[in-house]
Amino acid sequence: MAYHDALTDLPNCSLLNDRLTQALAHARRNKQMLAVMFIDLDWFKTINDTLGHAIGDQLLQSVAKRLVNLLREGDTVARMGGDEFILLLPGITQAESAAKIAYKILEAFKPSFYFNGHELHVTSSIGIALYLTDGEDAETLLKNADTAMYRAKEQGQSNYQFYTPAMNATAFERLILENNLRRALERKEFVIYYQPKILLSTGQITGMEALVRWQHPELGLISPAKFIPLTEETGFIVSLGEWALHTACTQSKAWQNAGFPPLDLAVNLSARQFQQPDLVEMIAQVLEETGLAPYHLELEITESIAMQNVEFTVKMLRKLKEMGIRILLDDFGIDYSSLSYLKRFPLHTLKIDQSFLHDITTNSYSAMIITLIITLAHSLKLNVIAKGVETKEQLDFLKQLHCNEAQGYYFGPPISAEEFTRLLQKG
Ligand code: C2E
Ligand code: MG
Repeated sequence: MAYHDALTDLPNCSLLNDRLTQALAHARRNKQMLAVMFIDLDWFKTINDTLGHAIGDQLLQSVAKRLVNLLREGDTVARMGGDEFILLLPGITQAESAAKIAYKILEAFKPSFYFNGHELHVTSSIGIALYLTDGEDAETLLKNADTAMYRAKEQGQSNYQFYTPAMNATAFERLILENNLRRALERKEFVIYYQPKILLSTGQITGMEALVRWQHPELGLISPAKFIPLTEETGFIVSLGEWALHTACTQSKAWQNAGFPPLDLAVNLSARQFQQPDLVEMIAQVLEETGLAPYHLELEITESIAMQNVEFTVKMLRKLKEMGIRILLDDFGIDYSSLSYLKRFPLHTLKIDQSFLHDITTNSYSAMIITLIITLAHSLKLNVIAKGVETKEQLDFLKQLHCNEAQGYYFGPPISAEEFTRLLQKG
């Protein structure tokens, strides 16, 4: 009991630590190599939340079996808790052997798992650290394998990564970035850019998406792709998101007051903001303070908001809808269980992810997916918008399919409020 995990019967954290310490002593004495692999299932939390813990537990047991089948004499696979497994490979002679085993693990996950009539396709992300190059002691090796695993996840799932010292350098940079981010809000270094949304039937601008930028005093304009993920991890997105909403609503109302035809403002909301019980009140208050009518506001959400408590999230979305605010589902088509959320979320619009659009002329599969999404949206009486439109061909393709709206560099990139004012003046 003290050394084994009750659910999977694999060695637990303490037994792994013992074996790792022993294996390290052995490797040191004999000047041998050793690999530590951090294996994490992709989407385990979603599966657990949507299908229940019983299925989640069965999945972990089956995963444990598949891992055990790959082991050779002397290898150890341990479960660290949750969906995290550690593989200890003493006696490997070169890094390529570790890569080969990582590859085998990814392959072993390819056949679907079946439980109570559910077919589950599960992938994993793997991080690898080697003794002696990536650490001399157990703690360092485990930490570095973990860092490498996160990098593997970032690179898209079903992937493995070897640890590199550069990963730690980025951890340090991230720390600096995080401290600077908090100060940046106080120093008013954030700005909102606006990208026009076009109604395809008339070619007119009907609205704009608010996209935050960081105007760094030395580094210049920093893209949200660089800092939004970090703000989500640290929770800073809650303050930043509120500021962005307030600023964009104020600007939108100012354009209305200046006599421009009323436009629909779209603001991105992070999943993390949906963990705030007072999100709805915060939004209501911002609308009241800025005087923007709720029916001119659209909130862009992604499916990841359902990663926490689906019931709670759906309630919040319903309240927002009752207030007259529209909900748009962003990045549609790339995530995990899109179709079930279409039924549960009170949506107004689907936004097609730009990855499909980029190769419609060369990839018939992408063209088919876009056609399907538009047909699906229309049969569910949802509005549909395509983002990342860059060429005339893409636009023609979308028009032919009666896609309602579009957004992309073809019409114009995100621009500052001043530039957007000039765009509106030109009509
Ligand atoms: P998103 O919501 O998917 O926004 C669309 C991104 O696509 C924007 O990147 C935009 O500049 C870019 N884009 C627009 N047209 C084209 C095109 O034709 N081709 C290509 N390749 N890209 C195009 P941006 O502004 O860097 O924003 C990145 C992401 O950061 C956003 O993705 C959104 O998820 C997040 N973000 C930005 N502002 C906020 C915010 O205020 N709150 C939250 N929570 N997230 C934000
Ligand atoms: Mg968006």
